[in-house]
Amino acid sequence: MLIGRTGYCADFIIYAVLLFALVAFTPRGSQSDRLIWLGAAIAGTGSWTLVEYLMHRFVFHRMPLIADLHHAHHAAPRAYLATPTWLTLPILGGLFFLPIWRLFTLNIAFGALSGLIIGWLWYGIVHHVIHHRRPRRLAIALKAASHRHLRHHFAYGSGNFGVTTPMWDHVFGTNISSRERAKDIAL
Ligand SMILES: [Zn+2]
Ligand SMILES: [Zn+2]
Repeated sequence: MLIGRTGYCADFIIYAVLLFALVAFTPRGSQSDRLIWLGAAIAGTGSWTLVEYLMHRFVFHRMPLIADLHHAHHAAPRAYLATPTWLTLPILGGLFFLPIWRLFTLNIAFGALSGLIIGWLWYGIVHHVIHHRRPRRLAIALKAASHRHLRHHFAYGSGNFGVTTPMWDHVFGTNISSRERAKDIAL
């Protein structure tokens, strides 16, 4: 969805503020509660990488309507196209926070939500830097991720769905290596 520069930047700010509030104000009680919170946050960040892969592969590239919007991103990678915060927040709450709270505890749900938000923010930053090439230092540091994601853009929807990590592409056999890309050009 075209959300404009303001909506695009606001998403980063809202999630950063929410993360800060979660870290600062979640009551965690004893030391074991704090360790459980930390474990849930690490698990949440790790789980995000799989969520990112599945979302990109099956929702962005296959779901009617959303696939059209994502196709627009492939066609104009620098346009301010993104999922608006008012849509991602209820999804995050309904699909992750509430079920985790119901299954476990509020402390674990807050920890897992914080971890998922860290993953979401990092994904947004990496994806932005890949296409906008700024900040320069980070763009250089993310060179491998950039090349990998640009191979995804070139071979629309056939692989390299992971943006922050290639791990799940290797696990599910959707990795497009630089050699394969070179082979494509040579053909
Ligand atoms: Zn992209
Ligand atoms: Zn894509």
